[in-house]
Order: sequence, then structure tokens, then C-alpha cells
Amino acid sequence: MVESNQMELFVAWAKRRGVIWPSSEIYGGLSNSYDYGPIGVEMKNRLKAHWWQTMVHHRDDIVGLDSPIILNPKVWEASGHTENFTDPLVEDLVTHKRYRQDQLTDPTKSPDGNPVSEPKNFNLMFKTFIGPVEDDQSVVFLRGETCQGIFINFKNILDTSRQKIPFGVAQIGKSFRNEITPGNLTFRTREFEQMEMEFFVTESEASEWFDYWVASRLQWYVDLGIDPKNLRLFKHPKKALAHYSQGTTDVEYNFPWGWGELEGIANRGDYDLTQHQKFSGKDMTVFDEATKEKFIPWVIEPAGGVDRALLAVLLDAWQNYEKGRKDQGEVETLLAIDKRLAAFDAAVLPLVKKDALVEMAKELVTKLRQEGKNIYYDESGSIGRRYRRQDEIGTPICYTIDFESLEGNTEGTVTVRDRDTMEQKRVKV
Ligand code: ATP
Repeated sequence: MVESNQMELFVAWAKRRGVIWPSSEIYGGLSNSYDYGPIGVEMKNRLKAHWWQTMVHHRDDIVGLDSPIILNPKVWEASGHTENFTDPLVEDLVTHKRYRQDQLTDPTKSPDGNPVSEPKNFNLMFKTFIGPVEDDQSVVFLRGETCQGIFINFKNILDTSRQKIPFGVAQIGKSFRNEITPGNLTFRTREFEQMEMEFFVTESEASEWFDYWVASRLQWYVDLGIDPKNLRLFKHPKKALAHYSQGTTDVEYNFPWGWGELEGIANRGDYDLTQHQKFSGKDMTVFDEATKEKFIPWVIEPAGGVDRALLAVLLDAWQNYEKGRKDQGEVETLLAIDKRLAAFDAAVLPLVKKDALVEMAKELVTKLRQEGKNIYYDESGSIGRRYRRQDEIGTPICYTIDFESLEGNTEGTVTVRDRDTMEQKRVKV
């Protein structure tokens, strides 16, 4: 786990090993935006795939969707985003730095101790234009959340998927918010990815399903190997609820800078479908067989962030050993990341760069890749250094091909090295 005084080391590691680095770097960056490098993108893809598997593939009652980033601007009027998707912006009257008032310890003072201005409501939606003419008629928004694409497709999904209440719709995709104070690496950026699922239920079952999703989403992070001590639930007080919410509980992680939200589970009531019915004039009701009445379903929404989830997983899995894992005096880093999220399933390493060893190693690589594994092949440098390189990015297994692999009664065997225990065993290919 990364301690607060280790953040610099962690950030340096993330850059050095191609996980995360500042975006647009050759032009001096762009306020708190980040790229995922070759290792980071693999982990991020796997995290999303794992979420999709748990939420969609492993269930009969949830289906997927992929809707666009730019939707008809009426969507955002109906959802309340044009009017209510705001943060209270205040300005330090001395330094003129800007802050979100609800994030200040004292709402009347900046972190520098100066008085701040009266709050102004600042809308977080990014605006752009569709088509060649930049006028009021062509204004569109980059979505501030992925779930609206789900609500406006509610009837399409109901008509095409043979799902019945209770059922859910899941989507993963980019969202955009013109945040006043982005920061803390990928924790808060203006462009980020969300994993959202809208679960449609009857009003009478809403609170039971809410409890179910709070518990099951918390467990998802525990199952990913995050230390339960670093996870907690935070129930929003009634007066702090978002405009659409009947109740919200966040899953929080103990980041090196303090507790922060990973995911919010909200009871959105029938707010969204009612609004879309009103604004579109299209019927959003379903028929209740039991009561023989039509009703607008309620919605329980677990809304998580891909970037925050990955950041928490990385911070929790990262271990730095000043004197090496076996106390040999050299700094070593271990990323004890869940095997399902590691960038590579395994590394294949010929002990030395000799034709016969390389040939056997490459055959093994081909075999493993045909099985769908992501394999790192590395034939150069000392074997110890190659192991450490894999430990640093969390590759769970290394297969080493040595001279014993080629001859005698050990012919056709390889050494399997385990990332966490560093134990080595000889096994048949
Ligand atoms: P916060 O209070 O931190 O601004 P929020 O409550 O507005 O977050 P939600 O609207 O509930 O966030 O969005 C669901 C999830 O999307 C969050 O739990 C988080 O993981 C992710 N998310 C939201 N805003 C950002 C952002 N600016 N950068 C990265 N991830 C974000």
C-alpha cells in the first residue's frame, strides 16, 4: 500500500513502467489529464472487462448498452443537468485561486487562510457545437454521466431483450465534467471513464435492492484484493443529496490523501424516467401483472469510475522494499495486483540467449497466446533483473526455460516462478 509520503515514488514508478503519465507532456501538459501507457491500458481494459463480466455476463437479469457521448441536448434538460449539474465556485480574494466551496474545511476561507468570494453556481457540462455553424441551435454537450443513454433507451431495451422488472442495463464509457479543481492524479480529471448500471425495480422493492447493490458493490472491491481496512461505506446526509436522489451511499477508499469516493450507489427513484416521459412525450411505464396497473419503475444505480477503481487497486497493491524483498540491499518494488488485472498473464524467459532455449521459449509463447493469454517475452539481461521487472508490473508468473529443459529426464520442463512467494518449481510444459 502507498503511504502518504510515498506518493512521489509511486508517481515515478507509474511513469517509468508505462502505467500512467501526464498527458500532452511535450507541450507542457494539460491541466491534470493523464495517459495510460502500454502497461496501464492493459490493466484498465482488464478492470473494465472484469466489471462487465460480474455485472453482465454472470447474470441473467442485466444486459449491456453502448450509447454515444453526444446526445440530443433535450436529454440534459430533462435530466436536470443544464440547470442543476453545478458546483459552488468560490475565489480566494487575495490569490484569486478558485475552489469548490463544498470541499473547503471552512466554507468562508481558502486553504491559504484568505477570505473567499460568495459562491457562484458553476455548470460542469462541457459544451460544443454540432455541424458547421456555431450558434445557439447547434449547441450540444459532452455527457456528464453515462446513465442518461440508458434511460432514454429504456423502452428499446424492454422491447428487444425480453427482460422484466427487476432488471438492469450496464454501460461503460467516457464522461466529461468541467471540474473546478481536478487533482490527485487520476482521482479527479475532466475526462474520465464510468462504469454505470441502472437497475429498474418496483417502488416497493427499491430499498431492498438498494441494500443489495451497496453490499455487492463493496464486495467487488474486496474481491479485487483491496484491503477491507481501506474501504468503507459513506451514507450521504439527506440535505446533501443530488437533485435526483432518494438516498446515496458511497464506497470509499482510504487514498494516501484521505478517504475518497470510488463509487456511488444511488436510489434515483422514478425521477429520470418520469422526466424523460415528460420531456419526450413518450410512454415510459411498464405493466404490473400483479396490480394490473401501469407504473414508472424506480432505479437503483451503482455508478463507479474506471480510473478511480484502477488507482485504488494500484495504490493498494504497490509495495516498495527499500532493501529488497530478501533484504539484499537493492530497492525492489512489487505490484501484488489481482492476477485478473495484471497487464500480462505470464512472462516467458529463456535463461540465456541460446538458439535452442529461445526456440523452446518461443514455442511456449505461441502456445500460451493461442490460449488467449497475454504474454511478455524477454530474453535479455540477467534473470534476476528480468524477474524484478515483472514483479514491478505485477506479472503473476514467470516461465523460465533453461538447459535442463532441453535434456535428460527434465527434458520438456520449465521453471515456474510465483510473483508473490518467489518460489520456483519445475513443471512439464
Ligand atoms: P465527486 O463527489 O468526487 O465529484 P460524484 O459524486 O459527483 O463524485 P458520481 O456522479 O457519483 O460522482 O459519479 C460516479 C463515479 O464516477 C464516481 O464515484 C467516480 O468514481 C467517477 N467520477 C466522477 N467524477 C470524476 C472525475 N472528475 N474524475 C474521475 N472519476 C470521476
